[in-house]
Amino acid sequence: MAASRTLGTFRLPPLPTIREIIKLFRLQAVKQLSQNFLLDLRLTDKIVRKAGGLTNAYVYEVGPGPGGITRSILNAGVAELLVVEKDGRFIPGLQMLSDAAPGKLRIVHGDVLTFKIERAFPESLKRQWEDDPPNVHIIGNLPFSVSTPLIIKWLENVSHRNGPFAYGRTQMTLTFQKEVAERLTASTGSKQRSRLSIMAQYLCDVQHILTIPGQAFIPKPEVDSGVVHFTPLTRPRIEQPFRLVERVVQNAFQFRRKYCYRGLGMLFPEAQRLESTGKLLQLADVDPTLRPTQLSVLHFKSLCDAYRKMCDEDPHLFAYNFREELKQKSEKRG
Ligand code: SAM
Repeated sequence: MAASRTLGTFRLPPLPTIREIIKLFRLQAVKQLSQNFLLDLRLTDKIVRKAGGLTNAYVYEVGPGPGGITRSILNAGVAELLVVEKDGRFIPGLQMLSDAAPGKLRIVHGDVLTFKIERAFPESLKRQWEDDPPNVHIIGNLPFSVSTPLIIKWLENVSHRNGPFAYGRTQMTLTFQKEVAERLTASTGSKQRSRLSIMAQYLCDVQHILTIPGQAFIPKPEVDSGVVHFTPLTRPRIEQPFRLVERVVQNAFQFRRKYCYRGLGMLFPEAQRLESTGKLLQLADVDPTLRPTQLSVLHFKSLCDAYRKMCDEDPHLFAYNFREELKQKSEKRG
């Protein structure tokens, strides 16, 4: 075990192909669970190479399924790979891989949404936030319905430096629907610019590193996929609480085709909307006639700082929800 931890040249012995594993263990994809598998090991090798140097790394793979990416990670000379898989049908196939890579693969039959990775790897891996990233990586090809809420949860963890980021600036390499990958990495002014772009880019360096055509998956999904690499920034580009940033960004994109003052106005009760929106934009020095997609992360930083100042002056402001106000109004009318 100790020897294998320092050896970067480990290769798995010859094994049945992923296609054979699927047949052997009757692992037909379950449509309701959006399962699509990668069978081509050259492609999974490419994804893993793009994740960065994994020699002696501790890797957390989410949703290994029949184990294509898992094999490539093991062949990259990692110290340890921990996989969390929700569907019990995959466990025997993964166990076969574990037998072929003694001491390297830990299998958890569980749910990534609740699994606590912060306790799973040795304490000694922890790095100061300002240091280089720790030798801990997250890699995964999850169903799209899981990967988007999960990235929001992990971005919040980045902002609190907890969860997988209790080790430091843990890097992530994750697969998304191509459109989501484009949104995550969209630059100011581009068509795909959205709430996700700001939330990811204010906390991380985000790179769209690979596009995977739908045909590469079995069964073929309706859309292509994009692989995105995230490295948390030493200093977030907006230094305000995650929930406050989320609130400002969410409201700004409320009416994405209109001028930004329209969406931002929804941060304030109707009676003071005009005046407060004017104050916010003036404090932040942001042109009210910019569209939400034209706002840079720096614009959002100014908006969040200004909104924070206004919330400090009026402690009720942060709890305001325009939907609640609308609901109460329509109840009164009713
Ligand atoms: N990684 C494999 C590949 O690339 O071939 C499988 C990909 S398939 C799109 C997604 C995998 O994630 C499935 O094996 C599915 O059972 C698993 N999964 C889905 N939701 C999960 C969850 N909440 N926790 C853990 N695994 C999950």
